[in-house]
Amino acid sequence: MSAESPVATRSVKQVEVLGASLEVKTFSFKSLPLDRLERVDSWGMNETTLAYVYRPSTADGILEVFQTAKAHGRTVGLRGGGRSYGDASLAAENITLDLTRMNQILAWSPETGVIKVEPGLTLRQLWQYCIEDGWWPPVVSGTMFVTIGGAAAMNFHGKNNFKMGPIGDHIVEFELLTPAGLRRVCSRSQNPKLFHAAIGGFGMLGCFVSITLQMKKVYSGNLSVYAFSTANFSEIIREFESRKVSADYLVGWIDCFARGKSLGRGLVHEANYLHAGEDPRPSQTLRVVNQELPETLFGVIPKSIMWRCMKPLANNAGMRLLNWAKFTASSTIGNHKRVLQSHAGFAFLLDYVPDWKFVYKPGGLIQYQSFIPAENAEKCFTQQIEICQNASIIPFLGVFKRHKRDNFTLTHSVDGYSLALDFPITTWNKENLWKLTNRLNSLVLENGGRFYFAKDSTLDRKTAETYLGKQVLEDFWKLKEQCDPDGILKTDLSQRIFGL
Ligand SMILES: Cc1cc2nc3c(=O)[nH]c(=O)nc-3n(C[C@H](O)[C@H](O)[C@H](O)COP(=O)(O)OP(=O)(O)OC[C@H]3O[C@@H](n4cnc5c(N)ncnc54)[C@H](O)[C@@H]3O)c2cc1C
Repeated sequence: MSAESPVATRSVKQVEVLGASLEVKTFSFKSLPLDRLERVDSWGMNETTLAYVYRPSTADGILEVFQTAKAHGRTVGLRGGGRSYGDASLAAENITLDLTRMNQILAWSPETGVIKVEPGLTLRQLWQYCIEDGWWPPVVSGTMFVTIGGAAAMNFHGKNNFKMGPIGDHIVEFELLTPAGLRRVCSRSQNPKLFHAAIGGFGMLGCFVSITLQMKKVYSGNLSVYAFSTANFSEIIREFESRKVSADYLVGWIDCFARGKSLGRGLVHEANYLHAGEDPRPSQTLRVVNQELPETLFGVIPKSIMWRCMKPLANNAGMRLLNWAKFTASSTIGNHKRVLQSHAGFAFLLDYVPDWKFVYKPGGLIQYQSFIPAENAEKCFTQQIEICQNASIIPFLGVFKRHKRDNFTLTHSVDGYSLALDFPITTWNKENLWKLTNRLNSLVLENGGRFYFAKDSTLDRKTAETYLGKQVLEDFWKLKEQCDPDGILKTDLSQRIFGL
């Protein structure tokens, strides 16, 4: 990347005011190169921005961008795969530092499963590189198109959060480049405070330039997956509680249209690793080609056209029908079925249909995910769905997970459950949707719950301060002052919530 010249210029001008001659000092910023201006969207297509986009390929290049920003009086928002649903990686009218070109594998040990990577490496590149040596990422999200830097910055979780914790629990060490120009190596023993704050620190303290991860040993490319339906929230929670000790993964799908005694009905998938020796052909099942998601549905329908087929159903009536059909099929023909499924097939369900989010065009979607302590989960989620149904703004998709507490500074997790709700945004519902999420936010706070910046579009400062706690935030902002004294790192999310 070419170095930008320092561009803040100071000049002194003589001006005539009411016959008197005054000396005026002016300070002007040269604008950033216009050919860097690009449209940058949130993944949920609910926010569109224009930003100056830089894509460095080295840590020195990142530092140059920080310096350019400072010289131009601009701020920098870090961006990985851009898979956060809301404004977490947007920086309207400022600099977006896109890290996707920094995607090298720096070191790999097939003996120990320890891997050191650059932050822009995607989860897809990671698992494809390691799986044939018998290693799988210990924690994965519902999509493989996130970067490891973005995953660490949000401390993402998977369908095994109750057992394995978030990705931060498997990060051995990282190197953080701060806007102040320092490269800080952090681990549980070196700079532990910064280690626990930068993981989950939503890109506010510095840019990860390398991340070292411990992968998970696997003895087969397949998981043993068991599917069964549940009648309501009470039953799904009972099932999760009884399975959480033995299961490796647990995830629930909720039909948010069902009412009365069926409110919270859904489908559970439990998955377990195969032990050494259980798979007769591990070298084959572990091959990347045998993990890849199929290109067609039922062997004939190209998946790329599927979102167009789903589009006519993107309304309350259509989604009610689709949710009913899914529940009916899974509680009859699909009930209590055990199958072998590839790791990628089980983990990345949301990648099956490319561009499925286009179903939500033109308004886009938000995902509302709240995390509620186990003892309050049934009551709180029941009320959440009732509020949505009464407002006729019903989530098209509901996903249910079990979590455990972790010790990262801005953790979103609790010893309990989360329910992630996908809401369409339309001209008709927009105002009411924000009112609705305000009500849901209050309910979450009343129940001792938490929120997740990666999914958020609706939080305000008061709500965030309440669930995170004043002391935690004070400690975090102190670290920010040390790492980023000029306040270079900002995103639309950090401005919206904290007014940074
Ligand atoms: C379909 C779908 C399914 C998902 N499923 C899950 C799930 O199961 N579990 C879950 O936890 N999340 C899930 N997510 C959310 C996703 O995992 C997070 O939003 C994740 O942070 C996205 O990573 P990214 O690389 O796209 O980062 P971006 O969205 O680009 O950025 C996320 C944050 O990371 C910061 N950042 C990016 N790179 C760096 C860096 N190098 N150094 C410091 N900060 C950086 C950004 O400033 C921003 O604050 C899902 C998202 C989608 C779209």
